[in-house]
Amino acid sequence: MYKLIDGKAHSARIRGEIKARVEQYKKARGSDIGLAVVLVGSDPASQVYVRNKIRACEECGIKSFANYLPETARQKDVEELVKSLAEDENIHGILVQLPLPAHLDEKAILDLIPVEKDVDGFCEENIGRLCMNRDCLVACTPNGVMQMLKAEGTEIKGKNAVVIGRSNIVGKPMAMLLLNADATVTVCHSKTANLKEICRNADILVAAIGRAKFVTADMVKDGAVVVDVGINRNSDGKLCGDVDFDAVRDKCSYITPVPGGVGPMTITMLLYNTVCAAERS
Ligand code: NAD
Repeated sequence: MYKLIDGKAHSARIRGEIKARVEQYKKARGSDIGLAVVLVGSDPASQVYVRNKIRACEECGIKSFANYLPETARQKDVEELVKSLAEDENIHGILVQLPLPAHLDEKAILDLIPVEKDVDGFCEENIGRLCMNRDCLVACTPNGVMQMLKAEGTEIKGKNAVVIGRSNIVGKPMAMLLLNADATVTVCHSKTANLKEICRNADILVAAIGRAKFVTADMVKDGAVVVDVGINRNSDGKLCGDVDFDAVRDKCSYITPVPGGVGPMTITMLLYNTVCAAERS
């Protein structure tokens, strides 16, 4: 019988800890913890994400600074804004909502976020530190996965972990975190040969692909821990992950559902990183 990893419950537990740390910070320093969010344009999905992040901040006592720029904003306008947030000592974390409109140079803008305020954990220095297993701000989604695996007591040390997906924001940092936790890690991607065979050897299988029901029962080892990062819509418009949950679950020891698995942890780890950044400031 598999155990469902309940992302909402883990998220609520960690948010309780975050609230307590925010209170403690306010008492000790007599000031707020601040997170600045930058949204350029009016992409509906991005607007929803930003709204959710701001609401989550408020619930945990973190002060949010929302900065909205029009779709037509020039490179210089966005850069000036990020520079001013970088210098503002009331702001401990800066988040630039991606994707930016196509005419903007994303890298040049993200590079203006100082490493200590990079609460998304995307900058080169934070990624480099993660690779060297040093203290850093870790990308929120893979960090959320690790927090759940650790809290569930799943064995990671010495296990075969397979990560499907090699993006800079999910797959690669996920692989690094598992490696740092002493797993033997294989990273698969769209050009991987023998994908099924590799997955069948996984004690821990993480799917971060973006293709509905990609992971089928014949790709999963009996007793595996399966983590589904994917967020897709099926033909009925319903949310679903990268794993064929109904077909796979009975083979697993642990499995995350979609929705209600990895998703709720992502914003929670953003709040967690913001508190860490403030405490270190
Ligand atoms: P991405 O498109 O940047 O990367 C997808 C990866 O999947 C690539 O590395 C690619 O090589 C690999 N891939 C594609 N087709 C493949 C195939 N046929 N076989 C093997 N590998 C294949 O996506 P991403 O940003 O890493 O996100 C992945 C998924 O996770 C998406 O569904 C995204 O919506 C979701 N996501 C969820 C959260 C969350 O909070 N739960 C956060 C970020 C991303």
